[in-house]
Amino acid sequence: MQLSKIRPPSHSWPPWFLLQGSSGLCNACYLGLALNFRMNYQLIPKELRPIAEKVEGRQRVSEADALALYGANDLNALGMVANVVRERKNDNYATYIHNRYINYSNICILSCQFCAFAAKKRDAHAFEYAIDEIIRVVGDALPLGVTEVHMVGGLHPTLKKEWYLDLLQRLRALEPNLHIKAFTAIEVRHLAQRIFRMPIRETLETLRAAGLGSITGGGAEIFDPVVRDKICRGKETAAEWLEVHRTWHSMGGRSTCTMLYGHIETLAQRVDHLRQIRELQDETGGFTGFVPFAFEPSQSHGILAKIKRASAFEQLRNLAVSRIYLDNIDHLTAYWVSLGLPLAQVSLSYGVDDLHGTILEEKIFHMAGATTPQQQTVAALEHAIREAGREPVQRDSHYRRLNGASRAGQPNEPELVCA
Ligand code: SF4
Repeated sequence: MQLSKIRPPSHSWPPWFLLQGSSGLCNACYLGLALNFRMNYQLIPKELRPIAEKVEGRQRVSEADALALYGANDLNALGMVANVVRERKNDNYATYIHNRYINYSNICILSCQFCAFAAKKRDAHAFEYAIDEIIRVVGDALPLGVTEVHMVGGLHPTLKKEWYLDLLQRLRALEPNLHIKAFTAIEVRHLAQRIFRMPIRETLETLRAAGLGSITGGGAEIFDPVVRDKICRGKETAAEWLEVHRTWHSMGGRSTCTMLYGHIETLAQRVDHLRQIRELQDETGGFTGFVPFAFEPSQSHGILAKIKRASAFEQLRNLAVSRIYLDNIDHLTAYWVSLGLPLAQVSLSYGVDDLHGTILEEKIFHMAGATTPQQQTVAALEHAIREAGREPVQRDSHYRRLNGASRAGQPNEPELVCA
């Protein structure tokens, strides 16, 4: 057997995993080494080797380590280290969800600098769907096999509590097994304070009783208060965002978490954002997956006017560092709407184990100027995953892998409680 042909049992691109050279070891010994050996340290820059050793030894990396990783330009080395965490957690699987996005309204009382989606009632591009229309659109998606409706909107000033509850109840009645993933933490706070006039927990309980399955991870942006004040003044603080998720997790709910990067934040501020997410996850265990988004600059203005889109290199590096640092979150999603499907496919070798979903009509990034498609087919996602050497599997809203029998239309397992 040629040693250069020995490959580890799971995914093995790029060729840095191949054993090289020869010694007095017999082929069987080499085979044993190949099956256990995850990283070729000669291919890792010296300054990153202590971090790589920590990862291989299952030790937690520090914030200083994460900053060093962000400063590294050897993308392949970062990918190799991130891949160790990725395969340890998810083997060779890469998942996707069959979902339908819907934005019930873009009318919002805030004006975040990076947001091209929001509108005031008087604006020509303002929209607000009637519940009947939302039910019709979601009903049309059910025969396609979607398992989740993903629904967020602006902070609407006048929609009533009864409207939100009626919407959830009618979606629930439409298909009891359809998972309703809805509302960012800031929408939850808006509903609690201005619409429902209830504490956060009671608001979440009321929404859940009406049909809410999980809350979304949006609105996190970058937690640093100075950055927040510049790009989304008036939005909830980091502590408030975290508190909504903490409360939801304490109720047994699960959620995702996000980061909007590639605008005015420093690398240290990115690391601090990841730190706060990791700390809450240590406390609750309620985050299922992390979804970083690169800022989409096409329609940007004001302080963000001159920002360039994060390069492919930067997006892959950010994914790899996130995978290495967030050792307590099982899944890392590449949001193909932002990356584009080809780069999302490549990211499967840089820590990513999930390509998000079919989506069926994305609006927020496209109103900001994204030129990627607004949806993907299951076949396209599975093809992209297979081409990358991974095994495609449909998942549910909690990233649980679905087999054929438990796909759309079949009963979901009961809601998970926090680990
Ligand atoms: S990001 Fe959300 S809260 Fe901010 S303006 Fe847009 S819709 Fe409103």
